[in-house]
Amino acid sequence: MAELTPMMQQYLETKKQYPDCILFYRLGDFYEMFFDDALTASKELEITLTGKNCGLEERAPMCGVPYHAVESYLDRLVSKGYKVAICEQMEDPKLAKGLVKRDVVRIVTPGTNLDVQALEESKNNYLMCVAYFTGKTGLSIADVTTGDYYVTEVEDAKKLLDEINKYHPSEIICNDAFLMSGVDIEDLRNRLHITVYSLDPHYFDEDLCRKCLQKHFHVSSLIGLGLEEFANGLIAAGGLMQYLYDTQKTSLAHFTHIDPYLTNKYMLLDSSTRRNLELTETLREKQKRGSLLWVLDKTKTAMGARMMRSWIEQPLIAKKEMNLRLDAVDELLKNPMSREEIREYLNAVYDLERLLGKVSYKTANPRDLIAFRNSMQMLPPIKSVLEDFHSEELVKIENDIDALQDLCTLIEEAIVEEPPISIREGGMIKEGFDETIDQLRAAKTEGKTWLAELEEQERERTGIKNLKIKYNKVFGYYLEVTNSYKDMVPDDYVRKQTLTNAERYSMPRLKELEDMILNAEDKLTGLEYDKFCSVREQIAAQIERIQRTAKAIARLDVFASLALVAERNHYVRPVLNEKGVIDIRDGRHPVVEQMTDHDMFISNDTYLDNQKHCIAIITGPNMAGKSTYMRQTALIVLLAQIGSFVPAKTANIGIVDRIFTRVGASDDLASGQSTFMVEMNEVANILRNATSKSLLVLDEIGRGTSTFDGLSIAWAVIEHISNRKLLGAKTLFATHYHELTELEGKIGNVNNYCIAVKEKGDDIVFLRKIIKGGADKSYGIQVARLAGVPDMVIDRAKEIVKQLSDNDITEKVQSISVDTDTTAKKQKHYDEVDLEQFSLFDTVKDEDVLEELKNVDIQTLTPLDALNTLYRLQNKL
Ligand code: ADP
Repeated sequence: MAELTPMMQQYLETKKQYPDCILFYRLGDFYEMFFDDALTASKELEITLTGKNCGLEERAPMCGVPYHAVESYLDRLVSKGYKVAICEQMEDPKLAKGLVKRDVVRIVTPGTNLDVQALEESKNNYLMCVAYFTGKTGLSIADVTTGDYYVTEVEDAKKLLDEINKYHPSEIICNDAFLMSGVDIEDLRNRLHITVYSLDPHYFDEDLCRKCLQKHFHVSSLIGLGLEEFANGLIAAGGLMQYLYDTQKTSLAHFTHIDPYLTNKYMLLDSSTRRNLELTETLREKQKRGSLLWVLDKTKTAMGARMMRSWIEQPLIAKKEMNLRLDAVDELLKNPMSREEIREYLNAVYDLERLLGKVSYKTANPRDLIAFRNSMQMLPPIKSVLEDFHSEELVKIENDIDALQDLCTLIEEAIVEEPPISIREGGMIKEGFDETIDQLRAAKTEGKTWLAELEEQERERTGIKNLKIKYNKVFGYYLEVTNSYKDMVPDDYVRKQTLTNAERYSMPRLKELEDMILNAEDKLTGLEYDKFCSVREQIAAQIERIQRTAKAIARLDVFASLALVAERNHYVRPVLNEKGVIDIRDGRHPVVEQMTDHDMFISNDTYLDNQKHCIAIITGPNMAGKSTYMRQTALIVLLAQIGSFVPAKTANIGIVDRIFTRVGASDDLASGQSTFMVEMNEVANILRNATSKSLLVLDEIGRGTSTFDGLSIAWAVIEHISNRKLLGAKTLFATHYHELTELEGKIGNVNNYCIAVKEKGDDIVFLRKIIKGGADKSYGIQVARLAGVPDMVIDRAKEIVKQLSDNDITEKVQSISVDTDTTAKKQKHYDEVDLEQFSLFDTVKDEDVLEELKNVDIQTLTPLDALNTLYRLQNKL
């Protein structure tokens, strides 16, 4: 150490405190990196690696990035999962004595990236803190760019994953226990691109967490924050806040409140359902176009866009709340002129939430403030349009929007119309806002006039006709009087210099002018900077008012967007019921109808309830439209629960607690599981977690294994779901096993539907209409032909089909009796069955037989009963 140069010593001292970060060490106009950091960064950023003399024999590896372009380099490192500590010069190098003092001012991590340019404006950038405990796990989620801050608790790892998928944070910080919880951390890292760091235990110390939250919210008890019910949530929230203080090193004033919520306040959607229903991105291309969000999001502001996304990510389950939202959409739909006027105003509204983030971080520049003022100017007209609206939500929005007139006036008076971006170069404060600034500016431009005026004034006062104001570098400004007038010099003149034929003087007023003129430039930029900061602080002091306004604007934007979509796409208001009846007439798929040519989408009805119409078995050839139909039903229910109108002629929607989907081949293949295993995993999850209030969408269950296994699994799954004592959930079940249509009639609440096709010679025409009854043919060969499989192959396939007959299997299936046993024991058995047992489906049946055998009372059995029992048992195998 001693041999190192002083600067290198300082560098290493600092680096020691931030071992897990890449240290950006400010040296003049560059941020330099050394040693291992330099090796990593030069590779990741593709910048040249050089070396620096550090006092040792070998030069230290070094690379650097220019300070004015630092954001993009930072973003590249951070998005690759690195943490970067930014070490600034804490004093002016020109004035520093010896080594310039330096300190780390902020640590940038994936979840605390502030580079608004790099972040998608319609998406939150979340940081999540997981305090994992067996029992209840605490979760806290924050967005440092907006000040959103949530806390909740979940019971198990599965629900934890559901929440992770809901927020899709870019960074998770956690206690060590989380790493051992069984959650696949590598999957989070590799597939979901989430950076996961475990933190030192002190972040999860309850006392420290409490203290940190109390200090931040300036409260002596946490009761008022609504955290009393969330013992472990509190630890997650406190851990997160401590981490923010440690990394951001700023006041975090925009975190004005925390939102505790219970996960069962919202419809539960697991990660595969989110993906399958393509809520915010498509399954294959992972893009917004083609998703539900793409159809619904006609918002005008970034805040609205983010809120729309979060509404879609978490549909409601309380009828009252849904109806409040629907009322607002309804009213905006019925008043299109006012709505469009509001949307016009919203056009000019800037991202107030992220602006607050910048204000709080003291990074907001004058242009941000002008954009802010422009936004605020839209508030009074928006409020005034809203005055004519009466629905509860819109009235509340009107109340919540604060016109912020005081701040608007402040910026109006303080900041020029077209300010520079930089706050260090002046030119941003408006004339008339500050007297000194005006004088300094005038001094710069009007200095000469002032001097001429003073010269004239002094000539008159003293009577010295040839008195002159002159300037030189050594003495600055002075009054020069030739020797002949020397006697007339007044007392307040102070002699500065004597020449052979003249004397040079100074006087207070001249000194004043000189100061003003010579220092104007420096003083001006300094003063403008101070004034700007003070304006920014005055805004910071009003963060709560602005935040409330921002949230109200976001809601309004979302409602207006939903109303517009309802109008354009001809949606209707759904009626909500709690009886479990889903009755949709002429329903359409909200996304597919937008992707198909005008009016080409064929509408279909859906009727499901918990009585006779619990399960719909849907058959029909490939490409007929089965999965479109099923997803359409799920999406219509989901839309209703978001509070949106729905694509149908009428819709009566029984509120569901969860939607489960098991659709097509999953994209989990990357995780190394077989398609069948993934499928069975999802089936297991559905059977374990669904309730009678859930909606199940099951597409081609059992496809991934042999026909017999697959059919048997599908059959047993339907039996289980249909059984009201075991589950009784409303289910749409698409299958290519025609044999399953045998279940109608055998089980009272199972109904067959198929999607109609018309035969035309050798071809088929898809009618896309759902009708009662089962499809009798699979038309596989016709579909293959449509897809362009060569005629030779098609002809050969037809020959083979003729030779194969599926009479055997149909006969066998017809003889299967339905299992309606619902004894408590069986219920328990279903509860206990785990995944391994599930794929060994036959074993389950065997155990059933054994169970029954065990229970036979041989003492009282007549010979005929014995025969019957044997027959029944054999049938079960
Ligand atoms: P399946 O699940 O039966 O194989 P899909 O639901 O995937 O069939 O539908 C196949 C294609 O048919 C879809 O890509 C869609 O473009 C079209 N389609 C489905 N349903 C309809 C409909 N009701 N109206 C118009 N086109 C439809």
